[in-house]
Amino acid sequence: MNSPMILVIEDDAPVRNLIVTTLKTHDYRYLTAKNGAEAILMAASHNPDVLFLDLGLPDMDGIDVIRQVRTWSNLPIIVISARSDDGDKIEALDAGADDYLTKPFSVEELLARLRVTLRRLSLMSSETGADRSVYTNGQLRIDYFAGCAYLGDEELKLTPMEYKILCLLARNTGKVLTHTFITQNIYGRNWDSDIASLRVFMTTLRKKIEPDSESPKYIQTHIGIGYRMLKID
Ligand code: CA
Repeated sequence: MNSPMILVIEDDAPVRNLIVTTLKTHDYRYLTAKNGAEAILMAASHNPDVLFLDLGLPDMDGIDVIRQVRTWSNLPIIVISARSDDGDKIEALDAGADDYLTKPFSVEELLARLRVTLRRLSLMSSETGADRSVYTNGQLRIDYFAGCAYLGDEELKLTPMEYKILCLLARNTGKVLTHTFITQNIYGRNWDSDIASLRVFMTTLRKKIEPDSESPKYIQTHIGIGYRMLKID
């Protein structure tokens, strides 16, 4: 397989150079765009594997770039936000972004996010036909058809709500899901009280699936934002 092609969309030259240098050093292929219009054009014509997208672009809001790209493609989008406001990240995730980086970020952080995303990508491409009825991740296995989940050889005794949450996270492995997205999907609404009860379900679910619930390896918490199922090698 060719090394993945990353489209870097960033108008700020020093940040763009940092990303490009990092990608080059680690043998990733890359393209760059300095504004939203150029980004949409390049995403459509060059078929990149991943987008790194700055939210503050000179010609349009990065969120609109996500919305446009999502009309034709599911390719992973990692948002880069200078704004420390969680609201922007949540809006970007709900518009279809997979993950986010907050400026200033380290090179290690950038590479770690890229690795998580590439694992998601390989999972997406390996999921074909019959495989889709069974999900496997580390020791965790979900038989969607039978409606059962296992950790190693043990069947997990999950409540219907815990099972629903687990399936939602599993079907979106590698992607950060916002509280709103999760409650919309499991309750069909999102009241403040639902986010509180989601936390409770998440605690009980973790006790059942995480060998060490103090340092979870399957479900990652994004404080103030949501949760993500990580792909374990
Ligand atoms: Ca910018």
